[in-house]
Amino acid sequence: MEPFPESWSRALCIVAHPDDLEYGMAGAIAKWTTSGKQVAYLLITRGEAGIDGMAPDETARVREAEERASARVVGVESVEFLEGHVDGLIEYGVPLRRDLAVAIRRHRPDVVLSINFRETWGGRSFNMADHRNVGWAVLDAARDAANRWLFTDAGEPWAGVRIAAFSSSPQSTHYVDIGDHVESGVASLREHAAYIAGLGQDDFDPDGFLRSSARAAGESVGVDYAVPFELFEL
Ligand SMILES: [Zn+2]
Repeated sequence: MEPFPESWSRALCIVAHPDDLEYGMAGAIAKWTTSGKQVAYLLITRGEAGIDGMAPDETARVREAEERASARVVGVESVEFLEGHVDGLIEYGVPLRRDLAVAIRRHRPDVVLSINFRETWGGRSFNMADHRNVGWAVLDAARDAANRWLFTDAGEPWAGVRIAAFSSSPQSTHYVDIGDHVESGVASLREHAAYIAGLGQDDFDPDGFLRSSARAAGESVGVDYAVPFELFEL
């Protein structure tokens, strides 16, 4: 893996669910905001189908608040939620591409970030439909946003996205050395308390989980802690 390029100033993170950024990438976000980069979050749903023992409308409210709190921990103030997409049933298609292109035109990022959209996480665990569909839509919307002839009623074209990168991919190509930002990433994940409790994994340890995966990624490139990304140039 090569070092993640750092010659950019604005990133837009686009993910399906509250918690997607915190299960791996938040330490890198903390590093970037600390160094003065602007990072904004766009959530496609509120993760309303994510807690088995809680009804969707209540879960949506709880998880939106958890996501806003976890963003604050890593220095992110801009957190937006789309309407009209259903947790667990996010469809790849023109309506999603349009919503993402509109957001990209408004935020004008140099970099768009999301999580693994490949079929697996590298083992035998199949990746869920929402993540798979969102990855394709993010890549396509970054291109759509630049095309003046697409979505002509939806904002000024923005051709400035140079990189799209996806954390936790089994085909990672680049890494961010997160050094002493592991703790911020852990604190960010801990904000998802209701979600983590709802998983019923009473022994889940955010610190142990994030630290061990960041250490393993770091070992492969000779640093203490790293977050790997699969990177595309646009
Ligand atoms: Zn997710």
